Parts: sequence; structure tokens; C-alpha cells
Amino acid sequence: MGRNIIVAGAGHGGLAAAYHLAKNGYHVTVYERAAQASELGYEWEDFFEANTFERAGLPAPETGTVPKVPISFYGPDPEDEPICQAFDANDVAMHMNRKELCATLIRTARDAGVQFVFGCTIDSAILIGNRIVGIRTSLGDFTADLVIDACGVDSPLRTSLPAYLGIQKTLKKYEYIYAYRAYFNRLAGFEDVRNEYKVYFVEDGKAGLTWAITTEETVDLLIARFEPFGQEEIDRMHEIFKADNPHLGDTLVLGGQITKIPLRRPLAVLVADGYAAVGDSACMTVPITGSGITNSLCAGKILADTVLADQNEEYSAVTLWQYQREFIDKIGDTMSLIDIGKELLLALKKEDFAYFFHNKILTSEDISFNNNEMSAKAVLSHFTPSVIVDRLKKIGANRELTRRISGIAARAGRLTLTLSLMPDRYYREDVVNWATKFERLYNVAPDK
Ligand SMILES: Cc1cc2nc3c(=O)[nH]c(=O)nc-3n(C[C@H](O)[C@H](O)[C@H](O)COP(=O)(O)OP(=O)(O)OC[C@H]3O[C@@H](n4cnc5c(N)ncnc54)[C@H](O)[C@@H]3O)c2cc1C
Repeated sequence: MGRNIIVAGAGHGGLAAAYHLAKNGYHVTVYERAAQASELGYEWEDFFEANTFERAGLPAPETGTVPKVPISFYGPDPEDEPICQAFDANDVAMHMNRKELCATLIRTARDAGVQFVFGCTIDSAILIGNRIVGIRTSLGDFTADLVIDACGVDSPLRTSLPAYLGIQKTLKKYEYIYAYRAYFNRLAGFEDVRNEYKVYFVEDGKAGLTWAITTEETVDLLIARFEPFGQEEIDRMHEIFKADNPHLGDTLVLGGQITKIPLRRPLAVLVADGYAAVGDSACMTVPITGSGITNSLCAGKILADTVLADQNEEYSAVTLWQYQREFIDKIGDTMSLIDIGKELLLALKKEDFAYFFHNKILTSEDISFNNNEMSAKAVLSHFTPSVIVDRLKKIGANRELTRRISGIAARAGRLTLTLSLMPDRYYREDVVNWATKFERLYNVAPDK
């Protein structure tokens, strides 16, 4: 084999892998549907972890870190106090305009020698036998020694792969969410309203996630739903937000499109001969919040390191399996655990949420973990035995909630066991069997 790499789609993780591989002498070409680099990204600003560039081995931009903005979680009953994160003044996060982030990643990759072909729509993978050898596109067929799939949540490459490879082609309901994001003007006369990052889990009984982030000049609205929705629902939610946020104006300043975000554990199988998926195409987002920038960029680095270590230049499922193992060990195990937590949220009724808030079952300290340390250990470290006993006592009065939480705890135990049984080496039959067991741990339909 050789060192000719295709990155399909200019997704974040693909760009990170492209940078590392080109820097090490590989011939890397990114094929991207957008007509030009300036079309990539969105006109909005995203938060992600402060140490992302360092962890992903990428040159860090000079600006972008800001003090962490604490999130306040609001329950369904306006009488209940929100649960607010508390950070100390030294806690920082990255806060970047998405277009600027994409432009930075592309510039970094280009400087390392990566080639870009814009205006190229990928249709499917090209296979010879079991091996992915290239991509079929609107500009013709292109072949390579390895195809990195960074085409996002609905990757046409992933969906074109034969089922026997064990790579999940399409996502089921509740494994992705539709998100509307838009910035509206902030009305004058409400200067006393403090800048705040408000998250609501239940709106009008509909499962989903909504937020309103108030800044000096705008209010950034996000409405996310598991069902497709349109302008009527956006207008309805805008009115609901206005009732709770009287400073929210009607003028759309930025954004306003609906996009899809994967909201599940990573795919159970990320690799095949000549193929590796990264970023949203491999479902690497945090399954409750949908944040995926840090995980994608870090996965890109893990993938590149695996390719660089493949001295025989095989890029087979056997040699790429190291990427899957390391990603799951460092990041994917936590995401898989959080996905079980997501199912609890989906199963809770409005009154169960109200019970949580009313009885202060979660506290500020519980949710103030530092995202720069996203290991399961760091997230759960606050829950010492005495804290758990205290919370169980509070929950104990609600038998239905106790039943659900015990069920989730048992599944978390089974997940830990299943992850520990992930095959050390790639034999397709073993991997597909393991993937089936892993997927069986998740029920996608909320049982209300
Ligand atoms: C509303 C919203 C808010 C978000 N907020 C945050 C946040 O605050 N923090 C955070 O960390 N994450 C956030 N995310 C998630 C984050 O955007 C992704 O998880 C992350 O960018 C990784 O996605 P990706 O780069 O793999 O895929 P994408 O960003 O989808 O990139 C895929 C690329 O492939 C290209 N492509 C797709 N199909 C084809 C084709 N057929 N042919 C050629 N090219 C193709 C696309 O044009 C695109 O350039 C948010 C997402 C959304 C939608």
C-alpha cells in the first residue's frame, strides 16, 4: 500500500487527522461539498473545552479562551430554584465563532500540505471485495489507500457500506436530534437582566433540550427536538421563551437554520479495511448536550497516530482497530455512560423532573465538574458514598423514580462489563458479535 489518504468531508476530526498525516509526509486530499472554505461552519459561537487544541496536538489560536460561563438548569415549575453551576475564576473554556474555527482548521491543514477539493459531493464508497478503496463523487471517482469519513451525521459513505461490516448505516429515532439555533436582539430597558446561560430540559411536556443564552447584545436560542419541526413550533417556542425572558426581542440577528446532531454513544464499530469514521459521522458527540468539537478533534489525533504507527501501510480493520480501542478507552466509554443517562432523562415524566428540582436531588456541586477532565472518573468523582446515600434517601420517597434509577444503575454496570469485553484484536465475527451486545444495552424508545 502507499500513503495516499482521502478525507471525505471537511469535518473537524477529519481536518485534525489530515493535518497530522500531511505533516508526516502523507499525501492527503480533503473532498468537500461546500463550494469554498468560507462556506464552512455557522455564524454562531460555540463553547468547547479549553485544552482541546493541546489534546488534539493542533496549534492553538491566540485568542478564544474565556472564563467559563456557568449554566443554570431550570425545572418545569417556575417556583423552583434553578440548579446553577459554580466555577472558580480560573476555569476557562474555548469560545469561538464556528466559521472562524473552520477557517483556522483549514489554514492549519493547508500549511501542513493538505490539498482541498471544494464543490465535490460524495455519493458513496467504492469497494473492491471487502476493502473501501475510494469515493464516488460528483467530480468523478477517486481512490486512496485509506478513506477517512468526516462527512457528518448523515454520511453517504457510511450509509453505502455493506451491512456485514457491522458499521451502523443509519441512526434510529432518539439517536439524533433536530436543532434550531438563532440569535435574537436583546431589548433595551432590561439592563438589570443578568447575562445567563439558561437550560430547560422540559418545555411544554416535549422531550428535548432548549437554551437561552443572554449576552450584552443578543439572546442565543436553541430549540432541539427528536421530531422534525418547522416555523410554527419555532414561533410557539419563541413566545414561551419571551414569557420567561422579557428582554428577548423579535429581530433575528444571526443563524436561524435547523440542523441535525447525533445524540448517542459512539458507533459500535468505527473501522473497516481502508475506512475509518470520525466526528459526527461516528456519533462522537456528548449524548446529552450534543457538544462534539473536542471529541472530534481529539479522535482525529488518535486516528492519525494509529495510521502513523501502521508501518506496513495496511490500513486494514486489523491495524485501524487500535484507533477504536483508544478512542473508547479515552473518550467513548464516558459517552456511552452518558447515553444511558440520556435514556433516564427521556424516560422521566414532567412531574419527575419537578420532583428532582423541588427536592434538590441534584446540587450545584454535582454539576460543576470541569469539562476539561471529561473522563467518567472525573464526572462521577463528586459522588462519594455519603453523597449517594443522601441522594438515595431523598429519591426513596418516590418509588417510580427509585425503580428507574436502579434500572439505569444496573445497565451502567452491564455497560462497564461489556466495554471491558471489547475484542483486543479485530476478527470481524468477534467484533460484530460484540457490537450487537453493546447495542443491545440501549433502548431507544423512552418508556414513559
Ligand atoms: C446547532 C448546533 C450547535 C452545536 N453546538 C456545539 C457546541 O457549542 N460545542 C460543541 O462542541 N459542539 C457543538 N455542536 C456539535 C458540533 O457541531 C459537531 O459535533 C462537530 O462539529 C463535529 O462534527 P463533524 O465536523 O464531524 O461534522 P460536520 O460539522 O457535519 O462536518 C461534515 C462536513 O462534511 C461535509 N459533507 C457532508 N456531506 C457531504 C457529501 N455528501 N459530500 C462532500 N462533503 C460532505 C459537510 O459539508 C461538512 O463540511 C453543535 C451542533 C449544532 C448543529
